[in-house]
This record gives sequence, structure tokens and C-alpha cells, in this order.
Amino acid sequence: MDIKEIYNTMEYGTAPESASAAIEYLENHQKKFNLFIDGEWQKPISEKFEKTYNPANQEFLAEIAEAGEADVDLAVKAANKALPEWVKIGGFERAKYLYAIARQLQKHSRLFAVLETLDNGKPIRETRDIDIPIAIRHFYHHAGWARLMDTEMKDYQEVGVIGQIIPWNFPLMMLAWKIAPALAMGNTVVLKPAELTSLSALLFAEICEKVGLPKGVVNIVTGSGTVAGSALVNHADVHKVAFTGSTNVGKILRRETAGSGKKISLELGGKSPFIVFEDADLDAAVEGVVDAIWFNQGEVCCAGSRLLVQESVAEKFYAKLKTRMAKLRIGNPMDKSIDMGAIVSKNQIESIKNLVKIGVEEGCELFQCENEMPENGYFYPPTLFTNVSTTSTIAQEEIFGPVLVAMTFRSHNEAVALANNTKYGLAASIWTENINIALDIAPKIKAGSIWINCTNQFDASSGFGGYRESGFGREGGKEGLYEYVKPKLNKEFADQPILEARTENQEPRVENQDSRFEGIDKTAKMYINGKQARPDGGYSLDVMDFYGNKIGEVGEGNRKDLRNAVEAARNEKSWSGMTGHSRAQVLYYLAENLSYRAEEFAKRIASQTNQSLKSAEDEVEKSIERIYYYAAMADKYDGKAHSTVQRMTTLAMPEAIGVMAIICPDENPLLGFISAIIPAISMGNTVVVVPSEKSPLSATDFYQILETSDVPAGTVNIVTGNQVELSTELAKHYDVDGIWNFGNGDCKTIETLAADSMKRSWCMYGKYRNWMLAEQGEGEEFLRHATEIKNIWIPYGA
Ligand code: NDP
Repeated sequence: MDIKEIYNTMEYGTAPESASAAIEYLENHQKKFNLFIDGEWQKPISEKFEKTYNPANQEFLAEIAEAGEADVDLAVKAANKALPEWVKIGGFERAKYLYAIARQLQKHSRLFAVLETLDNGKPIRETRDIDIPIAIRHFYHHAGWARLMDTEMKDYQEVGVIGQIIPWNFPLMMLAWKIAPALAMGNTVVLKPAELTSLSALLFAEICEKVGLPKGVVNIVTGSGTVAGSALVNHADVHKVAFTGSTNVGKILRRETAGSGKKISLELGGKSPFIVFEDADLDAAVEGVVDAIWFNQGEVCCAGSRLLVQESVAEKFYAKLKTRMAKLRIGNPMDKSIDMGAIVSKNQIESIKNLVKIGVEEGCELFQCENEMPENGYFYPPTLFTNVSTTSTIAQEEIFGPVLVAMTFRSHNEAVALANNTKYGLAASIWTENINIALDIAPKIKAGSIWINCTNQFDASSGFGGYRESGFGREGGKEGLYEYVKPKLNKEFADQPILEARTENQEPRVENQDSRFEGIDKTAKMYINGKQARPDGGYSLDVMDFYGNKIGEVGEGNRKDLRNAVEAARNEKSWSGMTGHSRAQVLYYLAENLSYRAEEFAKRIASQTNQSLKSAEDEVEKSIERIYYYAAMADKYDGKAHSTVQRMTTLAMPEAIGVMAIICPDENPLLGFISAIIPAISMGNTVVVVPSEKSPLSATDFYQILETSDVPAGTVNIVTGNQVELSTELAKHYDVDGIWNFGNGDCKTIETLAADSMKRSWCMYGKYRNWMLAEQGEGEEFLRHATEIKNIWIPYGA
């Protein structure tokens, strides 16, 4: 083509990047890599290796060690051995290492970019400009957090050895998101990269060697998920699991770790909406779609894969989009002028083709252009489906490829309903020129990241993570640090209840039947949707005092009672919509009404326990004080404006989780109940509470206080009965978003069942808090467990 022709057609030429440096790197290693354990390159005990190929041309790249259980064990041992010294050197020394890693990554950024492209098939333009710079930024940012740990995280300490498992779609970036915060907070790690894309993790191990990172602080075990991954997750000396990948595997990991007390964070799949309102800048939105679904071939967990367009502009928008699709360039990912590279593997492209076939069979309208594509390699064209119904498989299932499904909406409410019509909740993109619309819709969408007039924005200073089946935990920013620390005071929790518990089946001893307690109503009902409720099953349970004397009865709640209670909690919308200030006023009012009846509540505590009246009075006073604490925090536990990328501000907003199930402790019948439910409701959640099984009467008395304190019906629902049975039902219930177990619920059962709908759980794993102590019984930790952080990205100073 001569210059004149080029001017006429304005066609791009090719601009290939040379692969020679990366090929030379592979050849220098004889195209074979061992495991990086304890600072050494160790042959796998399994003696197995797996070949890795370039998905763009199927050329052989290298052989990668397949770690077996014994190899993983060595790596975990190395990480454990390295842990005490890594903690001891302190934040400043760790900051120096993280900074050195960032600098080294920067110095070798092109080699990383090329290697990543060869291994994964993604365009060099993206690895060079996005993956590697974001990875570097993570190490810089977390070098900062390491330095600041002593002051900013002073009540927290490292978790220990972290087992990290990452997927193939952003190999180095995911590694950085996992390793940087873990090291900053004083943990050591064993990381398993995806088998398909291990090369950049191995090159990273060499960077660790280069900067002299102490042996065993970072260990890289390559291999399969089912062998190496599973061995890592189930290793007894791994204290936390951090996973990014599919929702199915995320659920397996949650079940495998259930009840073990291992911390776990899961960043899973998505089916994120990309919403275009009629007043949007349609051309900008078209470019947004390109970045949302054709970036990284659509192999992005937060890809804007569901296009929702306002009906009035839908045809116009589709026409623009189709024109743009025809211009997308698909081909050799090493070519800098390419928009889309290769799909990562044969399996992945088959899975995409299969879902597209299902879409066609279900009557959706398929649009693909005649984009030129290389014959070899796993290339798939940009694809648009219109005429898609909400129930279509392709509207619900994550395709993880360059396939966009489009639907229309008429009203704003319909847009929100469609956006939330998914089991996932990772991200959403909102396009409108009207700030009122954007900021009205943003809080209504259940997703961890909301991008206004932008998409796929990430930064180390902002948390990223999901709601619902997109998983839990955040990566990035201060909110992400909490995944890699535990409160120092956890060490102080007791192995036995703080207060002496009543022994079962003892002979009654009439010691506590003081005339002081006469006249107290002893048949308590449950409390559902603002009304006293008899148990559906018609059974009651005896309530005994500490000495075994019967002092009353409560209803024996069953599945149906819970169903009614959850329904009431779900339907109560006004509470979460109230401002923190309004909720605070209600909470103060609760405290005031409790104080009027302090004497009666103290007697009730004393009648159920072996506490003296004085100690019971102290408990009531402490309960009032605790309500004051959360009333105070209701309008103070607020968000942050993160300093992320240029021309953006990112608002990190704590939002209520939704419907929470709370299993109360047996100790401190009133204070235990108050300490468990008030933080949850102070943040706008509605709750279904199972009070202490032994001493439920303080909780059932409390509904009279709720009734007189302007708490909307359905905000607090109280179901009495067997805690193990009721907590099991609540853990199973699909409409419960989170569950806390401070009582006798079985942590393993709860966390296993909670995995089905990915509800958040918080358990004590056989430890006991001293509820009378403020440092154990209240605090921001409770509020963090009662909220999700939503990050809203807003153009700012643009
Ligand atoms: P997986 O969830 O299977 O893989 C993610 C990581 O987990 C890999 O390192 C994998 O190992 C490992 N793994 C797999 N099974 C286990 C296990 N039982 N125990 C421990 N670790 C395990 O995702 P895939 O790569 O198979 O992709 C499947 C689908 O998942 C995609 O089509 C996409 O929908 C979704 N996905 C979502 C991602 C996200 O970021 N949300 C990322 C990647 C995929 P290995 O693969 O090496 O065997």
C-alpha cells in the first residue's frame, strides 16, 4: 500500500511488538520452570510438568511444574517459617521491599507485558498500558500501607500464612492485588497461579529474588486447581484463603473452609449491567461498551456484559454500536494496533461458542461482523445479541467472552429492576448526561463498583469486590487491608463463656425465686413484622432459671416462622432508606425507653441467670450505653472519597448488607442481644434474631421497647427456639444476605450452607466475647461486618 492509498483508506498498518526478549527469557530457562519455594527453585516432588502454549498461535512456550500435595506442604511450611521474622521487621522495612518490587517491575515492565501477552493472548496494548501499570501501582500503594500500618491499623495484626489462588484473565495484576496487601500487613504467602498463565508469576518470583526478599515470604506453586489449589485451601497451616475465579469454585472453597476459622475472601463472577439512558452521550457510550465487553476479549469478571438501553434510543444506539463493531480489529495480540486478541484456551472458546449457540436456540438475535481473524489460534469475533429476554440463559449466565446481550427498558425503575435481575453484583456502568439520574440510580444497584459515564476503572486505592454471588471481601484501598489482618484483641477471646452457664438437667434448687421477681409476665411470644406472633407449630419451650426452676415459656420457632420473619425483614424498606441521623434518633429513643424500664429489665436478667441484681443493673446500664454508641455511629460510620485516577473521584460508601440473621450469645441475656442486633440495624439492615436459647426472656421483653420507640415494623424480628435448628434454616434461606453466629449455631454447618447463596457469615468458632467490655462487645468491626462498601466512580475535574 503506498502513502496515497493509506491517506485514502486511513487503514491502520500493523505495529508488531517484538517477542524476542521474552522468548530469550524462556530459552534461558530451557523452557522449563520449577516451583519457587523457600526462596529456591525446587523440582516438584510430584515430578510432573504441564506444557503451556500461546493461545494466539498455539506455539509451545514452556513446561511448568505441577505441584502436588507434598510440594504445597513444603511451601506452606516455608511461609510459616518466614512469618515471625517478616512480622518482626516491621512496616517500614516491609515498605522498602514492596517499593523495591515496584521499582523492579517498572524496570522490567516491557518483558512482563510481552510475556503476559504470549501466555494469555491478550493485546500487548492492554498488558503494556493496563495490566502491568496497575500491578506496579499496587506495590507502590501498599508500600505506603506497610509504612502506615502502625498508625492506621494499630489495633490489627497479620493473619499469618495466606493461600492465594488466581485466575488466568489478569495474571500479574491479580497476583499484585493479592500479594501486595498481604505482604504489607505482615503476612507471608503461597500463591497458585492459573495453570494456563503461570509465566508472569514465575518471572515475578525472580523479582523477589532480585530484591532479596527474605526466603519463604513469597512462594509460587504452579499446578492445577484441583490438586495444588485444593491442597493449599485445605492445608491446616494456611490461615486465610484469597481467591479470584468462578463462582462455582468459590462456593467449593467456602464449603471446604467452613467452620475452620480460616479467613476467606472471594472475588467471583459477574453479569454486570451497562445502562444507557436516553440522554446519554451515545457516541461516548458506544466507546464505553467497547471498553466494557471487548476489553480483554470480554474475559473480565466485571465486564459490562448486559447492555440495558432506554427504548427511545435503542435502535439508534444499536446502529452506532454495529458500525463500531465492524471497525474492531482482531488478530495477533503482539500487534499494537489490535483491539482484541485471542481467547485464553480451547476450553474457553468452546464454552463461549456453546453459550452463543444456546442464545440462538432460545430465539435471541445474533449479530457478528465479518471482522478479519487469523486462521490459527483461538479468536472469537465481537458479538451482540438483541431481542434477549430476561430469562434467556445468555442474560443470566456469565459467558466470559466478547459477547454482549442487549435489552431495553422504558422507565428508570425498570432499568434498576433489570440491572438487579441477576444473582451477581460485581459492577455496573451508568450512562447519562443528567447527574440527578446517575446519582439516583447508583445507590439502587446492588453491586460493588458503580461507574458513572465510564467503565472498568480500577485503582489500588479503591476497593473492588462483589455483592451477592460475586463474592465477598474487597481488594484495594484501606477497605482491602482488613482482608489481611485480624483484630489484636481476638487473642483475648475466651475458650469458655465468661459467665457461668446453667448446667442442663440439674435438679431444681429454689434459690432465685425471690418475691422481687413475681408479677413478671412469663409467657413470651415471638415478634414478627411489628406484631407479637404465636409459633406456627404451636409448640412452646420451657425457660428455666439458673437453678433449674421453670420461670416461663417461649414459642418454639420453626421454618415457617423464619420464613415470615425473613419476608417481613425483606419487605421493610423505610429503615434502610432513612438517614443515619434519623436512625440515630430512633436508637436514642430505644435507649431512653429502656432506661425507663431499667429496673424491670434488671430483674428479668437476674431471674434468668445467677447474676446478682447489682450485676444485672450494670448489664442494663451497659446495654443503654451500647445503644448510645451505635446511635452515635449511625451517622459517623460513613464513607471516603478515594483519590484514584485523574479526572475521577471515587466515593466509597458503606451500605447495609440487607436482611441479616443474628444468633445471639447465651451470656448476658440483654446485653448480648443488644450488642448483636444494634450494630446491624444502626447501619440500615433489617434483622431476624434468634435470642439466647437459655435466657430468651430479655429479648422477648425488648419488643415492647421496640414497639414504643418508632422502630418500623419488620426491622427487628425475633424468633425464639432451638438455635442450632433455626440457624441452619437461616443459613439456607436464599433471602438472607448475611448471618452472624455469637450463639450455639454450628459454624461449620452455617458456613457450608451459606455458600449456596454466598451470604456473608461471621462466626466465633468456639470463642467467647466478654460483652461487658467495650473493646470486645462493640466497635467498628461490628459495623464493618454489617456493611458492604460500594465504590462509585464519578467524573470529577474532567
Ligand atoms: P476457575 O474458578 O476454575 O479457576 C480459577 C483458579 O482457581 C485457577 O487458578 C484454578 O486452577 C483454581 N481452581 C480451580 N478449581 C479449584 C479447586 N477445586 N480448588 C482450588 N483451586 C481451584 O475458573 P476457570 O479458569 O476454570 O474459568 C471458568 C469460568 O470461571 C470462566 O468461564 C469464567 O466464567 C469464570 N472466571 C471468573 C473469573 C473472575 O475473575 N471472576 C476469572 C476466571 C474465570 P487451574 O485453572 O490452574 O486448574
